[in-house]
Amino acid sequence: MENGSSSGDNKSSPKRIRCKAAVCRKAGEPLVMEEIMVAPPQAYEVRIRIICTTLCHSDVTFWKLQVPPACFPRILGHEAIGIVESVGENVKEVVEGDTVLPTFMHDCGECVDCKSHKSNLCSKFPFKVSPWMPRYENSSRFTDLNGQTLFHFLNVSSFSEYTVLDVANVVKIDSSVPPSRACLLSCGVSTGTSLSWNLEFAKVEQGSTVVIFGLGSIGLAVAEGARLCGASRIVGVDINPSKFQVGQKFGVTDFVNSLTCENKRVSEVINEMTGGGADYCFECVGSSYLVEEAYACCRKGWGKTITLGVDKPGSQICLNSSDVLHQGKILMGSLFGGLKAKTHIPLLLKRYLNNELELDKFVTHEMKFEDINDAFQLLVEGKCIRCVLWMG
Ligand SMILES: [Zn+2]
Ligand SMILES: [Zn+2]
Repeated sequence: MENGSSSGDNKSSPKRIRCKAAVCRKAGEPLVMEEIMVAPPQAYEVRIRIICTTLCHSDVTFWKLQVPPACFPRILGHEAIGIVESVGENVKEVVEGDTVLPTFMHDCGECVDCKSHKSNLCSKFPFKVSPWMPRYENSSRFTDLNGQTLFHFLNVSSFSEYTVLDVANVVKIDSSVPPSRACLLSCGVSTGTSLSWNLEFAKVEQGSTVVIFGLGSIGLAVAEGARLCGASRIVGVDINPSKFQVGQKFGVTDFVNSLTCENKRVSEVINEMTGGGADYCFECVGSSYLVEEAYACCRKGWGKTITLGVDKPGSQICLNSSDVLHQGKILMGSLFGGLKAKTHIPLLLKRYLNNELELDKFVTHEMKFEDINDAFQLLVEGKCIRCVLWMG
């Protein structure tokens, strides 16, 4: 196992770095701000200095989770922006000083899937929630000051002043974009807004009716994407009525409270509202029941239901097979919004710089990295969309 030792006598080669990190030592307990050691990048790896990081719901999920793939001690965090500090051998794509966004999804650029415009599911590095570096078996770049290994998270681990990433997980970006906005595109906002250009995945057309189940940050980002695509009606479904007010800023035009549909199912209400079903339904909660509901209220013949939420492991979706045959609808899942990190993130940034994509409204809080536990609390209580944490 990599123990983070210095990489030899060669003066030009990068050395271990001692820095601050927020370590998750036990499920659900406050993160511990401590000094750690970050080993130099190995071949095909990049070490970056994090400028700022944000909290995404998957961080909370894995902070609370007690069973595998949870493991501790771990450095969470996967939405961030950083500057390349050093690169390992064979890294040609970025150099020291470049501004990069880390992404949890791999984009190796070499495999048949990465080369295809139809998929973002790299087959060289299949997606999994691994505690290690992707290219090296059982290998971490983090140790605490007692020499204990600290585990990686989602190929990023951004709750640390320095982190090491595979080159397949970094996207070089224009350094003129404000970091507190650019970092949003590292995960959640990209996932939601990726329907805002002609991806294979949704292609929401002008005048479409879109229904969004769950107005959390991903759902709001879907609304923003749908707004950019010119959707004429964007229906938000949530159990929290205050989400409607928030949603309106992101283009939500109608609201359905799924707790107060009286004796009707949400899908019946939506079918009535839309005169036979929506063109697009997005499930952003991670509930197999809501996937079934979404499928039931997308329009026969062309309706598309897209799942973005993460349900409990092993959850099943139950559909009536003659409905599937007779109704001709599409049901698809989409990790990271079907987005190809290295191709599409720069396009989203361009749309931000052109004042089309509105990123500012996603940032509801900004704090110092040291206050990360307060930021967790805000997210758990549903009080923030995105909280940007600034490093030193
Ligand atoms: Zn995320
Ligand atoms: Zn690939």
